Formats: sequence, structure tokens, C-alpha cells
Amino acid sequence: MKSLFLSTILFSLLIFNFSFSSDMKPPKESAFDRFLRYVKIDTQSKEDQDTVPSTQKQFNLAKLLAKELKELGAQNVRLSDNCYVYATIPGNLTDNSKVPAIGLISHMDTSPAVSGENVNPIIHKNYDGKSDIVLPNDKTQIISVEKNPSLKDLKGDDIITADGTTLLGSDDKSGCAEIMTLVEILLTNPQIKHGTIQIGFTPDEEVGNGASKFDVEGFGAKFAYTVDGEELGEISEETWSARTATVTFQGKSTHPGTAKGIMINSIYAFSDFVSRFPKDKLPETTEKRVGFVHPYGGVADVEQSSLKILLRDFEISGLDEKETMLKKMVSETQSKFPETKISIEVKENYKNMKEVLKNYPELTANAMEAAKRAGLTPHLRPIRGGTDGSRLTYMGLPCPNLFTGGMNFHGKLEFNSRRGLEKSVETLVNLVQIFAEKAK
Ligand SMILES: [Zn+2]
Repeated sequence: MKSLFLSTILFSLLIFNFSFSSDMKPPKESAFDRFLRYVKIDTQSKEDQDTVPSTQKQFNLAKLLAKELKELGAQNVRLSDNCYVYATIPGNLTDNSKVPAIGLISHMDTSPAVSGENVNPIIHKNYDGKSDIVLPNDKTQIISVEKNPSLKDLKGDDIITADGTTLLGSDDKSGCAEIMTLVEILLTNPQIKHGTIQIGFTPDEEVGNGASKFDVEGFGAKFAYTVDGEELGEISEETWSARTATVTFQGKSTHPGTAKGIMINSIYAFSDFVSRFPKDKLPETTEKRVGFVHPYGGVADVEQSSLKILLRDFEISGLDEKETMLKKMVSETQSKFPETKISIEVKENYKNMKEVLKNYPELTANAMEAAKRAGLTPHLRPIRGGTDGSRLTYMGLPCPNLFTGGMNFHGKLEFNSRRGLEKSVETLVNLVQIFAEKAK
């Protein structure tokens, strides 16, 4: 019993004590408390808008972050018309020019998939490491240990969830809270040595536009990290490459009463085409590094039908194969329905950032080292999706992705924890120092 008690104490110490030097001034406001404030601000973005930001309410958080950055003493704080917040933490080295300026980026918006209005964060104090967490305002929403094995590692931690009626917004207010806490720590602890740090908070990441109006040149960083990942220790230097195909079926409509020999109903060719999708190459049948094709929407009409398809793969060659396969499916359907004119158009969306990041191995290495120094077990995980970073990387700002401690993004079962937030901040503090150390 005694040894169990002792190990519990040791474990709690491990969880809640930063491994910073004892002369470090702790932040006035913890990442945990900042996070609780930010999630209450509704910043949901919206699909298919012509403007950035897609929703005006994202300015509510943007203005607050800009104000807080100024109050903390950050330099060159600016809020763009497109709702991007930028700031600089000047380096404090004898010669800052020897260290590359590093950017840290997170997004302010939350997913359009689930409401982010009136988020009511619930703190589950001193979690026991084994119970399912039932969300109080909708008891059908349960974060189960079975589906969330990482809960077992959170024994003794304070877990934050939503109340079951909204998402939490951990994606990516965790990143915002962690970066803001880093800013406070750096500006109140000049003994922590670092080069120039550029801060960026973006709108509309969830609708694929987070990088669209990002001022890479004005940002002034040589490299950056998005702080937008999940489980502690998880670092991503690889997203998959993405294309979208649109297949159009041109028929001929006429009054059905006098249609004999005239009408060409495009719906039949459409349906034949859909039936040709290989069952083992779909999102619902693939995982890890295996790519897919995904028909996700379309229109079925006599005169003209169309189908939109996502193509995803970590390798460009895999993406090419999928494109070839779709074209073969088109020609098969075409020969069966010669009167319906079928065409396919394929567009490039984004490319695997690894193609560029492989030339900058020190970015991943430094992040791994920073996580290790925080007592974490760093590991690489390819992202089955795109990030702001994957586009920024191709806009000239190489940009891997770092964990935030948050889990279950885009749903009502989202959560993060005190340790998740604090260990992420600790990793960032380590990271900026590692860049300074290595430049010596
Ligand atoms: Zn995110």
C-alpha cells in the first residue's frame, strides 16, 4: 500500500510539475485557465464561403488574442482584415541572426461539423484512469476507455470535456492557449534563451482556407510549426497528397410523355459508375498509410448528373494510380452507355509536405528532442488529412505539426487535460531553446 501511495505521489509530481529550472517564473495564467476562457468564444467556420474569414465571429477571438499579446508585451502585434493575428517575440541572444526565426501557428476556428455555440467546459477532476466519462447534458455521449485507450494514461489528471451538446473546441484552442502561455513564459523569463519567435493565429483552417491569406513574407519566419495535433508526443511531418475529381454525365431531358427514342437519362450511367468503386479502397475500409477514393456528393438528374470524388494517398504514385483507375471506370461506363457523354476533371488540392520537409530533418529532430526533454515519448504519425502546414510548406514556410494533448477532434467527445496542455507548453519552451543551443 505504502509503495502504491508513494508512486501515486511521484506520478502526480510528474504530471503537474514542469521540469523547468526552479528559477523560472510560472505564468500568471496557466494554459489550462486560458483554454477554459477561449473555448467559450464561438469561432465556428463555415464551408463554401467566398470570403476569409468565412464567419465574422472569428474576429471575437482574434481581437482578444491581439489585445492579450499586446498586454503580455509581444512586439509588432497586428490583426489583418482577413482575421490573421501576427506577433513577434524578439530573440534575447547576443547575436539573434545566428538562429533561424521560428514560427508557431495555431488556428482559431472550430469545425463546421458540430456546433461551437455556448460551449460549457466541464472539468473532471482527478480522473481515476478507468471510468468511462458520461457527458452530463446528453448521456448518450460517452468517452469510453475502450474507444479511448489513452484515458488510462490520464490517471490523476484533470480532464476537460464539453457538456455533450457541442464540441469542445480543443481543436485548436488548445494550440492557441499553449502558444499564448509560451509567450507569457518567454517574456517574463529572460533567462530562457531563444532566437526570434513569430506567432500566427489563423482563421478558417477547418474549411481548408487557413493558409489562403497567410502573409508568409510578412510573417518573417524561416520555419514554423503548426500546434494542431493530438496525443502527447505525436509529431507529424507527413500529410497525404490530395486531389478531387468531378465526373459529369451528360444526358438529354425531354417530357417523359413523349420521350420515346429521344430521352437519354444520365442517372443510369451515373449509377453504373458508382457501382464500380472498389470496396477495399474506400475511407470506411482503409487506415494508416493506405489511401482511398471517396465519392462524397453529387447530383442525379435526367439531363446532367455529376459526382465528386476525393483521391487521397501518401505517395504521388498512389494518387496517380487512383486517377488512372477512375479514368478506366469512366471508359467502362462510357462503353456501356455510349449515348451519355461522360467526362472527368481532376484537380490538385495539396501535396504531402514530406516532399519538402525531408530537406529539413532538423525540424522534426528538434521537436522530438523537445518532447523528450518534457518527459514524453515522441513518435511520428502521418496525418490522414491536410493541415495549414501542408499548404504553408508549399508556400515557402516548411511547417511540421506538433501535438496539443487534445483528442477526438471535430466531435462532441473532444477532450484535453491539464497535463496535455502543460506538457505541450513545456515542449514549446524546450523547442525554442533547442534552436538557440544548436546555433552556438
Ligand atoms: Zn485543427
